[in-house]
Amino acid sequence: MKQFLFIQDGLGILSGDHLKSASDLGIPLVAVGLLYKNGYFNQKINGNGDQETEYNNINLYDLPIYPVKDEKGEDLTIYVKFPKRRLYLKVWQINVGRVKLYLLDSDIEKNNEEDRDVTLRLYGGDQEMRIRQEIVLGQAGVNLLKNYLKLNPTVYHMNEGHSAFLNLEIIKDIIKEKQVSFEVAKDIASSKTVFTTHTPVPAGNDIFPIELVEKYFKDFWPRLGLSREEFLMLGMKPNKELDTGFNMGILALKIAGKKNGVSKLHGAVSRELFGEVWPEIAANESPIEYVTNGIHTCSWLAPKIKELYNKYLIPYWQDSMYNDQVWQKVQNIPDEKLWEVHKDRKEKLLKLVKDNTTQRLRRSGYNYESINEIVSKLNPNALTIGFARRFATYKRATLIFKDLERITQILNNSERPVQLIFAGKAHPADKEGQDLIRYIHQVSMMPQFKGKIFLLENYNIAMSRYLVSGVDVWLNNPRRPMEASGTSGQKASVNGVINFSVLDGWWAEGYTQNNGWTIGTNSEYESYEAQDLADSESLYRTLEEKVIPTYYNQDKKGLSKKWIELMKNSIMTTGGKYSTARMLVDYTNNLYMPLCKLTKKYYENVDNVTAYNSWKKETYMNWKDIKITQVNNLDDITIDAGNNIEVACEVQLPNINVENINVEVYYGKILDNGVVENVSIIPMMLTQSDEETKTYHFKAKIELTTGGNYGYTFRVMPKHEMLLEPANLNLIKWITK
Ligand SMILES: *Cc1c(COP(=O)(O)O)cnc(C)c1O
Repeated sequence: MKQFLFIQDGLGILSGDHLKSASDLGIPLVAVGLLYKNGYFNQKINGNGDQETEYNNINLYDLPIYPVKDEKGEDLTIYVKFPKRRLYLKVWQINVGRVKLYLLDSDIEKNNEEDRDVTLRLYGGDQEMRIRQEIVLGQAGVNLLKNYLKLNPTVYHMNEGHSAFLNLEIIKDIIKEKQVSFEVAKDIASSKTVFTTHTPVPAGNDIFPIELVEKYFKDFWPRLGLSREEFLMLGMKPNKELDTGFNMGILALKIAGKKNGVSKLHGAVSRELFGEVWPEIAANESPIEYVTNGIHTCSWLAPKIKELYNKYLIPYWQDSMYNDQVWQKVQNIPDEKLWEVHKDRKEKLLKLVKDNTTQRLRRSGYNYESINEIVSKLNPNALTIGFARRFATYKRATLIFKDLERITQILNNSERPVQLIFAGKAHPADKEGQDLIRYIHQVSMMPQFKGKIFLLENYNIAMSRYLVSGVDVWLNNPRRPMEASGTSGQKASVNGVINFSVLDGWWAEGYTQNNGWTIGTNSEYESYEAQDLADSESLYRTLEEKVIPTYYNQDKKGLSKKWIELMKNSIMTTGGKYSTARMLVDYTNNLYMPLCKLTKKYYENVDNVTAYNSWKKETYMNWKDIKITQVNNLDDITIDAGNNIEVACEVQLPNINVENINVEVYYGKILDNGVVENVSIIPMMLTQSDEETKTYHFKAKIELTTGGNYGYTFRVMPKHEMLLEPANLNLIKWITK
């Protein structure tokens, strides 16, 4: 049986859902993370709207977690080397169904006071604390699995660069066990590693100052057989000079055999963002694919909604929910039933809003009358819009307040009232994020907005369940394209809550014209201000002209047929596709299994890898000698639609085997402004070989579906059965005209 290792970091909720679905599907996966004793912080919002952070130790006795024991029955402790000392780690275990999650804990007596805090808090310390945490996760994590638990994972899946030091640990072990060079060990490590990037901003990747990396790794790089310079370059773009920092994302990208972003759009953004890691390859062809995030559906469904699905979908629908067919039966749910359950969820949410708001304001010194003036206005019949997520500035929580006059009109229409509910934490060091919270608080206290805008404190999973099933509309307006995927909208849609969102992250592919609404366009703007203005205008207009009229288009029984149709479409179109069940199937088929097969077929045998490594070296050396020439000249051709053309080229390969290249034709339509549109790349066939002169002829047929002016060119890419992604080698040869 194969084992997959999953190293998790702060993307806690997604990771938890990943593990649950792996368990459901029986995928043999083991996970490693850090035991943050303080958890994330508790948030309080005071009478001024300031966020206050409160750290409490989580109570381990309240959690389904227990210490792992060694052979002698003692708590298992492992260690990792720090400068002039060892850091000891106690190992805990949580069973996530059939999947085991191990958590490392530095808070034990064997460590000095400072080291005990290494796993105290997520994002709690400075950069040195951060590098220590990442050494624990990456290096101690691998050590635990291999040497203590005696698991031998076939594939290691790194989520975000935080776990990327695991590459170094794997390579070090391979060098020692198999007595091979760094280069060969690195190839083996590549065949075992998957890297998922979760953020579209460069700052989302940890970049450590060189001095810190030196401090923690100067005794380590000799064990890899590397010089200081060679080691440091592993965390840098491949330019000549040493950079100022060691980038964990780049380390992961350089080694992982398979790499992905977390939505279709984010895949494209990541290819551009990290394009410089493969300088010879055009950025849009960087070897980064995508697997769109999802949610563990059953964990996020309100119980009564789940009962409806149990009744109206096929029996055991949960077992095949990644199949879209399963969801078609949502049509059969009677409108009144769906609406009744939704109204029930809404009432439960409004009760939570009332309690949360009352508590918060009471603590800030508001008296009974002024609190009652606010919470008594909560209206179960009003169109209710929810916005809940981290208060990071790119999510633009206050966009809906861009024009206060206009939003006043919208919220205060006595016939068609609208209420807004906000919740979310800002990073404790993010002052701008905290300013957003304060601003929302202040707006909610303006006379015209009292009892119309609610700001909840301490957003967490429990509250999230109420929000994503109890509001009518889920609002999401990030600054495109900064939202890598987003998952809370997926939680909402499967509960019949309608998404109203910027076409970013998952919604850019999830939106189908009839399952919700969009905000803004796909344009790029010259300034943030221009983007905010355009997007807020679009937001208001769609609210006024579409969302509100559809909601209030109710019959005598208070049902809006159109609205319920949207709810059903929303469930049917997203229930399967945006589940972690589908996500795990994709990861397994497209990333884990190709690596497993490659390992089984080739990489378990060191001789294969050594031969492959020599082939690579020779290919790098001889690549420049490849010559491509065009055979039939069709320059500046204008073709009628429906016509086929045949193109041919001649390739000279002085020192490279013709079996080890792919020749491709690259073509597209040239518009009047010179832009090339609808680029296609198709492989060419070998038609003629002359082994003496090492000259080979290739041809391809191009089918053109539309007429116009076309351009084309030829190129050569390396090919080898042990090479998963041709672009990984950063080799490409274009025709030289
Ligand atoms: C789902 C969830 C998130 C993540 O939401 P995104 O839309 O992916 O930003 C964050 N916090 C809580 C409590 C959640 O339930």
